[in-house]
Amino acid sequence: MNTQSPQHSAYDVIIIGGGIMGASTACFLSQNPDFQGKVLVIERDPSYAFASTSHTNSCMRQQFSTALNVQISQFAADYVKNLGHHLNDSRVPALTIQNFGYMYLAADEAMANVLRANHKVQVAAGAATQLLSRDEIAAAYPFYQLDDILLGSINTVDEGYFDGQAVFDWQRRISREAGVEYLAGEVVSLTKNASGTAIESVTLASGDTLACGQLVNATGPRAAVTAAMAGVALPVEPRKRFTWMFSAAEPLDRPLPLTIDPSGVHVREIGGGVYQAGGHTDYDPAVPFDDFAMDHSFWESHVWPIIATRIPQFEAIKVTTEWAGHYAYNTLDQNAVTGPHPEIGNFLFLNGFSGHGLQQSPAMGRGTAEWLTYGEYRSLDLSPFHYERVLTNTPIIEQAVI
Ligand SMILES: Cc1cc2nc3c(=O)[nH]c(=O)nc-3n(C[C@H](O)[C@H](O)[C@H](O)COP(=O)(O)OP(=O)(O)OC[C@H]3O[C@@H](n4cnc5c(N)ncnc54)[C@H](O)[C@@H]3O)c2cc1C
Repeated sequence: MNTQSPQHSAYDVIIIGGGIMGASTACFLSQNPDFQGKVLVIERDPSYAFASTSHTNSCMRQQFSTALNVQISQFAADYVKNLGHHLNDSRVPALTIQNFGYMYLAADEAMANVLRANHKVQVAAGAATQLLSRDEIAAAYPFYQLDDILLGSINTVDEGYFDGQAVFDWQRRISREAGVEYLAGEVVSLTKNASGTAIESVTLASGDTLACGQLVNATGPRAAVTAAMAGVALPVEPRKRFTWMFSAAEPLDRPLPLTIDPSGVHVREIGGGVYQAGGHTDYDPAVPFDDFAMDHSFWESHVWPIIATRIPQFEAIKVTTEWAGHYAYNTLDQNAVTGPHPEIGNFLFLNGFSGHGLQQSPAMGRGTAEWLTYGEYRSLDLSPFHYERVLTNTPIIEQAVI
């Protein structure tokens, strides 16, 4: 990364934030022959040490409750499995999806009805989701304790872990080779034109000011701070999510789906007798941007008892690694906010992905690059995610959030 000065004083597109969303957008722009402009990605921390992208669990699922979110994940699966083709580069290694599937477990009729309704949406959109009775779950996955469970929902096609870091690395490499510039620096203010209808320039902490034709806010959990620089209110805040990796004394005899316990705790297969659990405390406020402290008591008092009750073999386990990361949590509906601001037309959102941004990054990067190039979407119509729904307080209710 260039840590000195930008090569130009003006860019056709400036992307603030070089995490997976900024990288994906820059990459799609750089590959589109119809786009000939200069692109700059500005990243305040090129180590990405605290970016959501570095703390992710990197899983994808088709089990959403809106057809659009299912379609977004379908493109993610195609993109990951055919990354070399999409990047048009024979150096790119073949990636696979570790298809253990997500297993949603319902312990009451209300949740079972949500699974049934979601199943209809998913199957209509082409996903291979199956509803399983308690007996069917027990037959396929005998390690679960299921006394309280009424229904399960699982899909083992294009649903599981993928190597998001490899996608991220290759997108940055390919786009830099195609002329995208990356600059280490923190954007501290935005300047609008006299009528307030466009962003003219960004100013860095270094004092440099760079003119932009269009500007993308891809600043993850800090998205609301960036939006506020344009005088725009965005309901996105950093919320803490914990991850634990553990090894089991007696590994399970078959792959463990990413199991979403009715309590909200989730646990999944890594491989080689290693597993991963995640969750968050009921008290779930916005946290300071630099607060990544672990809550060790939460594992002991909450997460471990839940997973050991659900899977009795997990009584005998030991934590090997743990970390806290931040969701860019959209308090309106935990869904993306994309597209242009209705009045500041050259200011684009790419925000609020909560717990599903890694898998959404191919479709979101593609769609944002289309909007930047053509002023419209040419593949998936992402307009339901536009900022207008924030102004009208019209959430997109997504029942399958984690
Ligand atoms: C614990 C955890 C588990 C997750 N698991 C999954 C999962 O299994 N599947 C899935 O799909 N998603 C998952 N996610 C969500 C996913 O990781 C995120 O949605 C995604 O990484 C968001 O990428 P981003 O580029 O928007 O944000 P980030 O990765 O946070 O990148 C934003 C970048 O902007 C930079 N920035 C901020 N402000 C400025 C500024 N003023 N100037 C310059 N740069 C700036 C930051 O330094 C940062 O690098 C998980 C997230 C967490 C925390």
